Parts: sequence; structure tokens; C-alpha cells
Amino acid sequence: MKSDVKLMILKAKNKSSYVLLWILTVFCGIMLIGAFGALFTDGGPSMIIPILIFGGLGAFCVIKMKKNRKTAATLNKFTEYVARLSNDDTRSIVKLAQGMREDMNVTIASLEQMIKLSLFCNAYIDYQNNTLVIPKKDIFGPADKLRVIKCGCCGALTKVVEGTVSTCEFCGAYLQG
Ligand SMILES: [Zn+2]
Repeated sequence: MKSDVKLMILKAKNKSSYVLLWILTVFCGIMLIGAFGALFTDGGPSMIIPILIFGGLGAFCVIKMKKNRKTAATLNKFTEYVARLSNDDTRSIVKLAQGMREDMNVTIASLEQMIKLSLFCNAYIDYQNNTLVIPKKDIFGPADKLRVIKCGCCGALTKVVEGTVSTCEFCGAYLQG
């Protein structure tokens, strides 16, 4: 699947689960208020269990929503990550973090999540050299005329032999050299 389509689906999924969690949180909040109200009036101690259940469920939802927001931030960065990485032959994570004005650990965590979501094809992190390794599929001969083609899907730059068709290293889209 092309990574722009994949990205769109992931964003939509993430957003819809966020909305569901938000509704559930509001529901838990209302139930909690009701249960606390009853605790101090007619319901008494029998309200302890519903308070624990809705309190726990509410807390779970809030934690999940926080995760959702983090995922959304990561997904929103993917296109810029690809653009920056494809312009840097060393695929340096240090440079990427500097360019993105973020902490290296944030960049690494984001890349790990992007890899986990299979937004990158076959890529992995070289933790010793702090680089993103993308296995090269094409080996060029000395006589080949190369053209740098910008991927229409993800924006990455890939070298393609003139007159041939290759695939984008990042997202697998077809590129005409
Ligand atoms: Zn691409």
C-alpha cells in the first residue's frame, strides 16, 4: 500500500478512536458525579463499586487519549521526516532532530513508531551511528544516467536510472526515471 494512503487511514483510525474515548470519558464523568451524589445521600456505601468502576474506566480513557494525541503528532510529522531524510544521504537522526527542533529521544521514538506502523519500507534504526537505514534496492552501473525523482506520494527523493521504472525507497510508489 502507498504510504500516503496508509498515513490517511492511520490518521482517520486514530482520530475516530480519540472521539470514542472522549465520549466514554464524558460518560464516565457523568456516572461518577451521579455515584458520588448517591454516596452522600440515599445510596451510601453501595456506591463504592460503581465509583471504582467508572473512575478506573475514566482514568484508562484519559491515558489512552494521551497516547492517541502522541500518535497524531507522530503521524503529522511523517511527511516532513521523509522530506528531510531523503535530502540527507547520511540519513542522520541527529540532523533530523536538529532540523525538526526536537529532542533526539523524541525523534527516535517517533521513528520507532513510524517503523512499527510500517510507514517506512524495511527501514530500521542504527542505534550506534544514529542513522535510519533504508536498504537500497537498486544498484547502479557506471554508465547509467541517473535522475533524481521526487515521489508524488511521500515527497522523498530517489535516484532512478533514466528510462526505467523504479520504486520509491520510502513508500514503494512507482517512479518513472
Ligand atoms: Zn514515496
